Amino acid sequence: MHLTHLACTACAKEHDAAVPQNVCTACGKPLFAHYDLVAAAKTLTKESLRSREKSLWRYREVLPVKNAADVVTLGEGWTPLLPAPRLGAQHGLSRLFFKDEAQNPTASFKARGMTAAVSMAKQYGLKKLAAPSAGNAAGALAAYAARAGMEAHLFMPRDTPKANIIECEQMGAFVTLINGLITDCGAEVAKRKVAEGWFDVSTLKEPYRAEGKKTLGYELAEQLNWTLPDVILYPTGGGTGLVGMWKAFDEMERMGWIDSKRPRMFSVQAEGCQPIVRAFHAGEKFAAEHLGAHTRASGLRVPKAIGDFIMLDALRKSGGGALAVSDDQMISGTKEVGSAEGIFVAPEGAGCYAALKMLLAANQVQPDETVVLFNTSTGLKYLECYGG
Ligand SMILES: *Cc1c(COP(=O)(O)O)cnc(C)c1O
Ligand SMILES: [Zn+2]
Repeated sequence: MHLTHLACTACAKEHDAAVPQNVCTACGKPLFAHYDLVAAAKTLTKESLRSREKSLWRYREVLPVKNAADVVTLGEGWTPLLPAPRLGAQHGLSRLFFKDEAQNPTASFKARGMTAAVSMAKQYGLKKLAAPSAGNAAGALAAYAARAGMEAHLFMPRDTPKANIIECEQMGAFVTLINGLITDCGAEVAKRKVAEGWFDVSTLKEPYRAEGKKTLGYELAEQLNWTLPDVILYPTGGGTGLVGMWKAFDEMERMGWIDSKRPRMFSVQAEGCQPIVRAFHAGEKFAAEHLGAHTRASGLRVPKAIGDFIMLDALRKSGGGALAVSDDQMISGTKEVGSAEGIFVAPEGAGCYAALKMLLAANQVQPDETVVLFNTSTGLKYLECYGG
């Protein structure tokens, strides 16, 4: 509501938020939304939030959409922060939580980004949206585009989990399967979008998906009574949620809601696709493409991310890190979580649990710390991984 402008995350060049934008016109890096936070904080208060709707639109003052009539919603966000006492006790942790993002529309946290991006597309009067996707982003875009009466043109790797492909088709999207990775799908969108009149809503090549995903940070703070966890483990592909949360923490501090203490943020990737992990440990500012990427955790199959430098910077400033887990660890971790806590996590969510065990073994997490694992989707969308 109090959006003022967009600015480049690399060169700071300002861009007009009154018209659709993709990346920085000067340097090609992602744009971030900026708000009048003084104005926002007048009506968005901790008290006012108590009576607001149980969706991410409860934070509307710090979301980009101007008029409520343009909000395209399926009831996304405000997912539970589930305590995991039994699993925690197994590992000597007294405050372990899952942020259960499976409880979003389309059963993944991609709904957060797409509600914001499609609402802004509606505000701009756009009709045809396109995106490459490893699976869940496509499902979410298909749903929100249908909800808004727009076309969704989706490009996915041929070996994307079946559930994602079927859900897109049933939401009336135009689906193209590509023999390749998400990067190849992105190249196809880039090649065709001008001629086809599509607006590209690729991760961080569109400024508002990150705004939807930043609400993860607001929700964590609100659900923990305006404190932040000590440790966050985030299964990382394009990194929108990671950089979004980091941005949210900054906004909340500037509105006087939290202090400058930040969680240690850990990026969790798959052994077969770990560009951020490699770059983190090599001390690089940018992450080289992970060649020959492979993992069954499709959300993590992102060999090259345009927001790599923003992620790496946040991980380092937070005092966190980056670690890779194997597909076997993810698959077996699913049953450990499920049998202890009754949550059928996606492989990506199980990856965070596997990574937590590695951090505990390395003495990087202490028993009394508040630890949040992100379960970003549901195992039900990945039955192939579990013998289905
Ligand atoms: C997309 C996705 C991720 C990665 O999210 P980013 O914000 O792009 O890093 C993780 N898990 C699942 C299930 C996903 O669909
Ligand atoms: Zn720039």
